[in-house]
Parts: sequence; C-alpha cells; structure tokens
Amino acid sequence: MIPHVKPLLGKEEEAGVLEVLRSGMLAAGSRVEEFERQFCAYNNSRHAIAASSGTTALHAMMEAVGIGPGDKVFVTAYSFIASANAILYTGATPVFVDIDPVTGNLSPGELEKSIKKHPGAKAVLVVHIFGLPADMDKIVELAQRHKIMLLEDCAQAVGAAYRGVKVGNFGRAAAFSYYPTKNMTSGEGGMVVTGEPGVAEKVRIIINQGQRRRYFHELVGYNYRMSDVHAAIGLAQLAKLEGFNRKRIENAGFYEKRITNPAVEKPAIPTDRVHVFNQYTIRVPDREKFTLYLTEKGIGHGVYYPLIIPEQIPYRNAPSGGGHWPGARKLAGRCVSIPVHPSLTPEELRYVAEVINSYG
Ligand SMILES: *Cc1c(COP(=O)(O)O)cnc(C)c1O
Repeated sequence: MIPHVKPLLGKEEEAGVLEVLRSGMLAAGSRVEEFERQFCAYNNSRHAIAASSGTTALHAMMEAVGIGPGDKVFVTAYSFIASANAILYTGATPVFVDIDPVTGNLSPGELEKSIKKHPGAKAVLVVHIFGLPADMDKIVELAQRHKIMLLEDCAQAVGAAYRGVKVGNFGRAAAFSYYPTKNMTSGEGGMVVTGEPGVAEKVRIIINQGQRRRYFHELVGYNYRMSDVHAAIGLAQLAKLEGFNRKRIENAGFYEKRITNPAVEKPAIPTDRVHVFNQYTIRVPDREKFTLYLTEKGIGHGVYYPLIIPEQIPYRNAPSGGGHWPGARKLAGRCVSIPVHPSLTPEELRYVAEVINSYG
C-alpha cells in the first residue's frame, strides 16, 4: 500500500528529542523559544508564539484579537472543522461563506455578498486550503473597505506564498498547525504569528493560564503551551521544510503532466502563488467506485472533506451567510486526495499516474 500521508522523520528529530530528554527539562523552555525565533525568521513574521496544536493556536489567536460573544466571523464552509470551532469556542458566531469550487478557497464574490447580509460582522478567517493561498488581493481589499478584521488559518499551507508574500502575513494574526499530516510536524503543535506586539503578548498570556508573571493571573487562560520535546521535533522539521515543499511541488508537477484521464479533474494551480500541496486533490464523478479502485490497486487516499462544516451536527443551526454553499457541496461530493508527500519514489509516482489513467 502506498500511504496517502507520511511524515518524514530522521536522525535530526531523534537527536533533538534525546537532547531534551537528557536535559530533564521537558516543558516549554529553550527549544520552544528557539523554534519561535526560527519560525518567525522563516515566515518573515514579526512575532511567533508556539501552542500545543493548530486548534489551540487558532483559539488563542481569536481571543487575543478580541473575538467574543455576539461577534460574527466569516469563515469558509469548506475546511477542517477546527477552523469554525475556534470561532465557536470564543462565544462568537461563525458565518459560513461558499468557496470557488475550482480552487477550494473562499470566494471573494461570496464573501462580499455575506458582508452585505451581515453588516457589523467583526472578522473573516481565511483558510488556505490544501496548501493553496486564497485570493488575497481581493480579500484584503474587501476587509479594508468594510473594516473587517482579517485572520488566517495557515494549518495546511506552511511555506505557501501569494505574490511573493508568505501566508500568515496578510491579516492581524494567523495560526499554523504541526500535526503529522501537515507539511512539517512537531508531533502535535501549532504557532500563532502576528505583526502586532500587543496581540503577541496577549496570546502568550492566554496560552499560559492567563499569567504574565508566575501565579499572578490577569485573565482566565488555558494551558495551550508547546513542550520542549515537541519544539525539538519542530526545529528539526523546520530545517527540512523547504526541501519537503519543493518535493511536494515536484510531485504535483509530475501528476499535472502525467495524469491524462479526462474523467479526472486535476487541481488548479494559479500562477501568481506558490501552492505547497499539503494535499493533491482531484475531482472525480463517481467517487465511491474510484476510491474502491484505488484501494484495490494499493493506493492510499483520503476524502477531505466528505461533509462541509455547516452540515456537521454542531453547525446545522448557524446562520448561513448566504445560500446553501453549492460550490462547497460540489467539491465535497467529488474530492479525493492522492499521495503527494515527499517520500514518494519515482516508481510510486509513475504507478499512481498509470493506475489513475487506466481508470474508467
Ligand atoms: C489541521 C488543521 C487545523 C487544526 O490543527 P491541529 O494541529 O490538528 O489542531 C486547523 N485548520 C485546518 C484547516 C487544518 O487543516
């Protein structure tokens, strides 16, 4: 079986973890600080604060920028559920916006319609789905014109760029995830980045039990800290990230050339941005049959996502933000992600393309 996702871990990660274990100091310390410093430099961001997961990073970010009860926050209908949960945790209301079914990302036209329907909405959380940056020029312009705070969920897009600017640098703050299926991992982990010192400071307090000084608590915070064990893995992975992303892009380029089956729709790759292919997601008409065929041929695959967020049980009564998300529904009914991770061999890549071309 060719696995559909696979983290690449080596001697560097082992050495980093061993060093932390032998030091006897496992909680947040020098490795976390170093990881924050290096990630900041990598991403050209001003401040970075490590967290225990992408989800806790998103939640801490939301609270730090002042999202709370009574606020409405626009978010894509098509993402992993954590994007919307982070909004709900704060007591705010997610307002789901449809996507462009070609890119999978938030549709600026649909966002504009939603903004008009929900005057006074406070923020928009943009997700760069599968590693492809959203239409940032249009979204930034809309957010500025309507005075809506812009936030980014970069969990799937570390290293991706839009017109030369890395994701995570377009709004007030952004969150990343280092879950093992992402383009780099720390085991579990996440990061908030922001250009604002005030937001950075607030995130630090929120993730650390509401304390700036030990045992003096100024608000009800959480324990969302990253440990030095996780940071050591993250540091080793960060050093390899550019190579991983290059390989993913190469693998996607191979599929783009070699998959020629007309029944299969390949992902769009706009030329003005760097897509880092956390997933290589194709669209097929009869998914059930297609995925059974892939399994039979030993090719791992994933369906991201079979059900859009507003149709998930906790969200069925949320305000729609306009329409019934036909774009998101369409993609959810047809999407299949095939292996694109950096450890695929040339033989495996050829095999995947051949198997897909013989389908039908
Ligand atoms: C993975 C992911 C998250 C959550 O990250 P965790 O580290 O798993 O908590 C949030 N948003 C998106 C879009 C994701 O893909």
